[in-house]
Amino acid sequence: RAKADGRGAARFFEAEMDARVQARRKLERDLRAAFALGELELHYQPLLVASDPRITGFEALLRWRHSERGFISPAEFIPVAEEIGLIAPITEWVLAKACAEAANWPSGVRIAVNLSPAHFRKQNPAFAVAQALAESGLAPDRLEVEITESVLLSDSAANIAMLHQIRALGVRIVMDDFGTGYSSLSYLRSFPFDKIKIDRSFVTELGESPQCAAIVRAVTSLGASLGITTTAEGVETTEQWERLRAEGCQELQGFLFSRPVPPEQARLLLSTPFSAALRQRRA
Ligand code: C2E
Ligand code: MG
Ligand code: MG
Ligand code: MG
Repeated sequence: RAKADGRGAARFFEAEMDARVQARRKLERDLRAAFALGELELHYQPLLVASDPRITGFEALLRWRHSERGFISPAEFIPVAEEIGLIAPITEWVLAKACAEAANWPSGVRIAVNLSPAHFRKQNPAFAVAQALAESGLAPDRLEVEITESVLLSDSAANIAMLHQIRALGVRIVMDDFGTGYSSLSYLRSFPFDKIKIDRSFVTELGESPQCAAIVRAVTSLGASLGITTTAEGVETTEQWERLRAEGCQELQGFLFSRPVPPEQARLLLSTPFSAALRQRRA
């Protein structure tokens, strides 16, 4: 009996694994097809001057509306793209699309694009960056590339060389999700970043956790002494906004100001007096 039960459990387990493998294969096939058919989209989320708040730029964020499953988060499909060798072509597309869009914005407005660590492992993203700039005619100092600490974790000498090549093009290099890695501070020594984005988890707990508040204060003051801009991501309340401004954080991003929006709406945000609308909302 026990033996029979064991076999049953094993069969059940195998069936479950099989279903998972099938679902994963399907996701891979669907992602390849969606990319090939031009079904991936880019949305744009504003970055604002903390004291103003005027729009200084937008972050380009990938969106995938699956025909059966609906919206699939990039947090789910980017890792798949990385594993099936699709991240470099997708990033080339994102860079080209985002730079072309930004070329239509007022000249002070920047565009930020996320680069994946897997891209650095496969090839040199500096080529894709150079090509996007050449094709769009966008001034290099209007492009920012965001990397996470993991780019500096593996193959760091090679990756740092590639980062220097990107920077030599005149592009700004941003450390994304700062504070979530193992030794965040040491990464600031390995490359002269232009900007640090404080991870959303610190911003979320700003009100409740004195530790978080102290860390945010330390990072902004460190940034100031290193000549690095600090941005806070995930700002959702006016209290967080007030606090971040008081701590000397220069730039903000979050649902309080705007969610990521399609390009037409991003253009609209640029042409409406955004700060006035916000002041009204706060009052
Ligand atoms: P990220 O680069 O840290 O992007 C910021 C994420 O925080 C975005 O999630 C954005 O929608 C979200 N966010 C911004 N403000 C708020 C807020 O106030 N509250 C909350 N709850 N969330 C906020 P999204 O668009 O789902 O992207 C998730 C991650 O997927 C990104 O994190 C990035 O790592 C990756 N990703 C997105 N697009 C691309 C891309 O084109 N290339 C690569 N390599 N990765 C991408
Ligand atoms: Mg980012
Ligand atoms: Mg981020
Ligand atoms: Mg993040």
